[in-house]
Amino acid sequence: KSKELFEVNSFILKSIYLVESSFEHNNIQIDFIQSNPIQIEGFPNEFSQVVLNILSNAKDALIEKKIANAKVIIKIVLQNELINVIIENNAGQIPEEILEKIYEPYFTTKEEGKGTGIGLYMSKTIIENNMNGKLFSKNIDDGVQFIIQIPKA
Ligand code: ADP
Ligand code: MG
Repeated sequence: KSKELFEVNSFILKSIYLVESSFEHNNIQIDFIQSNPIQIEGFPNEFSQVVLNILSNAKDALIEKKIANAKVIIKIVLQNELINVIIENNAGQIPEEILEKIYEPYFTTKEEGKGTGIGLYMSKTIIENNMNGKLFSKNIDDGVQFIIQIPKA
């Protein structure tokens, strides 16, 4: 399968449409601050799946911690030749000692049957091995940011 050019905002929107009703049902606000159209090279459906995994994890964390003003913000920040897709939620921080472990295969903190621990591992593989990018996370005040960093086409 070969890489294709695709527009980032439109594929983020596809992932948002897929979770919209479950977010609404759980009173989770989702804000997407779109950018001007940007083309990247890679695998658009796999990219969408990565965004979907991150959104689904955010939803799980917000529900589990019973956050009152639950919110997910997606923004695009351009940095020279790099595109940063930043997906943040206010479900609290991830302990620093597991911040890297969450990307290991089968690492999960969810109860049996609820998590497989494969989502972030696969997401990292897609972004780093197939799309020449990086996927990592950072704690912020009241939550976590997941950052997908991809070179501009
Ligand atoms: P799973 O969702 O099946 O547990 P993932 O690979 O998607 O597997 O995530 C691994 C772990 O990373 C989760 O079990 C959770 O502990 C942690 N995690 C992922 N996203 C978040 C988040 N937004 N807030 C807090 N913890 C998170
Ligand atoms: Mg997951």
